[in-house]
Amino acid sequence: MPATEPNDWSPCPHCGFDLPPNARVCRECGFSDDYVDSGDSYDPHDDDFDYDDFVARAFPQHGEADSPASRRQMWIRMIILAIIGSFVLSLLLT
Ligand SMILES: [Zn+2]
Repeated sequence: MPATEPNDWSPCPHCGFDLPPNARVCRECGFSDDYVDSGDSYDPHDDDFDYDDFVARAFPQHGEADSPASRRQMWIRMIILAIIGSFVLSLLLT
């Protein structure tokens, strides 16, 4: 008499490995059932995946810093810092 009932087992949707009825995670490939249920899972292999768009949405500050106006402000700030820095250096060295 078999200890298991094959009919209740379902294949892993990822690798096809037979899983027990209540298995949430595949023992063979680690595929998780919860992953599928979330529906909105991030797929790095999606052809339509727009990395720049993803970064802009995930890191709003980063996307803002990439805009031309913010970049100009950043340069102006760096130049001012450089001028102040060289001024302080000249004071220290004289
Ligand atoms: Zn699997």
